[in-house]
Amino acid sequence: MNAMGALLSVEDAQRKILERLEPLDAERVPIERAAGRVLAAEAVSSVDLPPFPSSAMDGFALRAADTDAAPLDLPVVARIAAGSPATRPLSAGEAMAISTGGVVPDGADSVVPIEHVEVADSRITVREAISAGLNVRPRGGDVHAGTVVLDPGTRLGAAQVGALAAAGIAEVRCTKRPRAGILVTGSELRRPGDELGPGQIYESNGLLLAAALHSAGAVPAQLGVASDDPEELERALERALLGFDMLVTSGGASVGPHDLVRATQERLRAEEVFWRVAIKPGKPVAFSMRRKHPIFNLPGNPVSVLVTFELFVRPAVEALLGVPDPLPRFLRGRLARSLRRNRERDEFVRARTRHGDEEPELEPLDGQESHMIAAAGRADALIAIGAGDGEIAAGESVHYLRLA
Ligand code: AMP
Ligand code: MG
Repeated sequence: MNAMGALLSVEDAQRKILERLEPLDAERVPIERAAGRVLAAEAVSSVDLPPFPSSAMDGFALRAADTDAAPLDLPVVARIAAGSPATRPLSAGEAMAISTGGVVPDGADSVVPIEHVEVADSRITVREAISAGLNVRPRGGDVHAGTVVLDPGTRLGAAQVGALAAAGIAEVRCTKRPRAGILVTGSELRRPGDELGPGQIYESNGLLLAAALHSAGAVPAQLGVASDDPEELERALERALLGFDMLVTSGGASVGPHDLVRATQERLRAEEVFWRVAIKPGKPVAFSMRRKHPIFNLPGNPVSVLVTFELFVRPAVEALLGVPDPLPRFLRGRLARSLRRNRERDEFVRARTRHGDEEPELEPLDGQESHMIAAAGRADALIAIGAGDGEIAAGESVHYLRLA
């Protein structure tokens, strides 16, 4: 256990976490259940997409060369619907009615939209010459059979699962979702809905962490609330260190006489990698490894949990999932009012975003203390204010993280 001393920077702490983690094993996942997962191997198309030359419009398939003589009349010799191709090729001097998504017949090379022709009985009048290829989606124009649709490390969102389905891929190889144990500590904590006794408060970190872990792609498991009694804490930690890919604790990681989590873990042969980072809130955060499993000891204050989760735990989940660049993605916005810097620590200020002229405008919320989770509940952004002297003026551009 490292002694008190210089605080680690956020970047050094993140590096120390990421250099210890590698992606979990892969498993086969049916695409119906693949949303939110991360690909462990290339996904290869089983078809040309589109699988045939396909009409981009409702209109008439014909030969562009025929329209060089426009205006001209052409007989409509067949009707092609999506899923019902023509039974014969198109000959020179003919047109075939075709719907969007219909197979452009052999012999045709373009589709004139229905709005651009006059239709009478079984003939059309084409007023202007059209160019070859007009409104025809070529076979394989999106992707070719046997080529890569999505690369390993891709997180599967809406566009990605759509792409896999369109390419005829029924199953993909994804990294396993990390099973994340959540152990909350503190003798003062009660479940929401129970009666509060003297000195007690409602437990909020367990649910906060479960929601955050789920959104990051992990499978959270609530391991209950351990009191600050040393033996109970040791039993709870011992259980928590078994059977999970990662463990997140809250509370009891600071310097008080009841902050026993780190010492207990060390007895249970966890190797502490760091303790205390130069951030506000969240300074007493600790990170340990037990075999291949990361352990995060987050502070007890709920806003500290929120901030340290985004800076350290979410990147760790993404590293276990095999996301290639798991560090938080900071965006740029403008401060709606001035903020004073903290001399020693980077500060993460809860804020609301509003549309701005070029960049979003960031309104720091009232109630910035680390216990004020109700105030933080109105935030959708964390502004990063680097340590230093003086203040950042209203209107200046700053980095921020979006809260999910
Ligand atoms: P600790 O880090 O254990 O010293 O806790 C710091 C502060 O956070 C104390 O005021 C605790 O009561 C509070 N706290 C700890 N755990 C939780 C929790 N799970 N939910 C809400 N507040 C908590
Ligand atoms: Mg405590």
